[in-house]
Amino acid sequence: MKTLRLMRLAPAAAIAVAAIVALLVPGPASAAQDRALQTIVIDPGHGGLEVGAKGRFGNVEKDITLAIGLKLKARIEKDMGYEVVLTRDRDIDVSIENRAAIANNHKAAVFVSIHANGAIQKKAEGSETFFLSLNATDEETRRLAYLENNSTELQSRIDPSSEDDLMMILWDMAQNAYIKESSRLAEFVQMELDAMLGLRNRGVKQAPFKVLRGVACPAVLVEAAFLSNPDEEQKLASDAYQTRIAEAIYRGLTRFLRSRG
Ligand SMILES: [Zn+2]
Repeated sequence: MKTLRLMRLAPAAAIAVAAIVALLVPGPASAAQDRALQTIVIDPGHGGLEVGAKGRFGNVEKDITLAIGLKLKARIEKDMGYEVVLTRDRDIDVSIENRAAIANNHKAAVFVSIHANGAIQKKAEGSETFFLSLNATDEETRRLAYLENNSTELQSRIDPSSEDDLMMILWDMAQNAYIKESSRLAEFVQMELDAMLGLRNRGVKQAPFKVLRGVACPAVLVEAAFLSNPDEEQKLASDAYQTRIAEAIYRGLTRFLRSRG
């Protein structure tokens, strides 16, 4: 009953703590664990009430990230020996804490959060890939992290325990151990986006995205293109272009996982 009550109060926090403690105090890996298929967790940004960025033609970020996420899952399952778990496979709210907890609960090998960018300036364009930093690279990335993190305002009302200081320290520790690998993963993904999309290459950046903070594996956040740019909105909304974005991320993942041996 105690466990049940804990799970009811803070399911994401409980799972995250259990996963992090398990990582910090590693036991002998069982034969079953060795044989098990490793998991890649794909996180289509936003969902439900959190629509994310909006385009002039009415497209919303949550729909585009889900479409790309579903295509990426299918692509990985077709040709890679990995199981894929989506943090959401339909239009529902998922808290930022739960997204990270899903990765940790599945002992994910890699975590990829998919987003589409939004800017006040309609001319802002291009693709960029982020890994975690507690400080933003510049004012622009600070603003973007603020916008993307803003969805936690909704979630903090649902799960106030996630704001606990100890939790935050544990969550920060989770991703900090993987920063170097996350940076390499970001380089590979961004290289492939640049090769495949024909967009301005905004490069690899660091920003304090909350969704990456609690993830205990290499983790990146992709801003595929700008929904606030009408040209890029039309691309983002097209099935063929979504397939290209998924293919680019797939190739980046493949290169990263091969490089790990
Ligand atoms: Zn987003």
